[in-house]
Amino acid sequence: MYSVKEIFYTLQGEGANAGTPAVFCRFSGCNLWTGREEDRAKAVCPFCDTEFAGTDGAGGGKFETAADLAFACKLALGGVTGPGLVVLTGGEPMLQIDQALIDALHDEGFAIAVEETNGTITAPEDIDWICVSPKAGADLVQTRGDELKLVYPQAALLPAAVRDLDFDHYFLQPMDGPAQASAPGGDSLLQSTPPWRLSVQTHKVLRSAKLSGCGPICRSATVGCRRAVPDIYCLNGPFPLFPAPCASIETFCLRRPYLPSRAARRPNSASTGIRSARA
Ligand code: SF4
Repeated sequence: MYSVKEIFYTLQGEGANAGTPAVFCRFSGCNLWTGREEDRAKAVCPFCDTEFAGTDGAGGGKFETAADLAFACKLALGGVTGPGLVVLTGGEPMLQIDQALIDALHDEGFAIAVEETNGTITAPEDIDWICVSPKAGADLVQTRGDELKLVYPQAALLPAAVRDLDFDHYFLQPMDGPAQASAPGGDSLLQSTPPWRLSVQTHKVLRSAKLSGCGPICRSATVGCRRAVPDIYCLNGPFPLFPAPCASIETFCLRRPYLPSRAARRPNSASTGIRSARA
């Protein structure tokens, strides 16, 4: 049985694979926080910015078998063909990832990325991309992989403590919240001590660009956004990013590969507020 908070198709927003289209499968639960606000103060990482409790997100639920979950991830592609990438995330994904799921996802044609694990549980060998984000106060056992992403600053976990582990890419990612503004010397650290590079949470930047007037338009019963207010984005630029038309939509949705409607593409459309650069 797998407990999944949500499954959705979007762009990877962080780290070395930023900009890559991927199905995100967010597992419920974490071993460093319950996910309940009343427990945040005593969490190992009280800065956590992820909702991972429960199974009530879009595409979430309980999946009896690995094949069921892999098929749900396949459906989330919404008809996009070609090699697919699935990002297994959380919460702490390694609490639930097992060999059966890895095999089932590979059978569905996915490359598998774990992005990210807190590194407290050893990952199986045949995961295609492993991103570890170590947390101060948690024992790190997964000391090698493809990408190490350190949320910065963490007072009790300095970059120097993890920079010599066995990873191909090293990223500092500014901590979301007030600590980000007071991060001491992060820019000079990046300049002076390779191999660190900057990871920006691009998806949050895009969300901040969301314009009013883009409504919850997706109406597909099988692969559509099922949130009350889905993440609909107008980038005020030359869309679509994904050329995959679907009859059941009326605007562009970054979480799904949908085209904007004819109305949405009109310049300065009074009905949507969208000004299309293509028109
Ligand atoms: S390990 Fe990750 S998901 Fe879990 S509480 Fe910490 S930041 Fe949140």
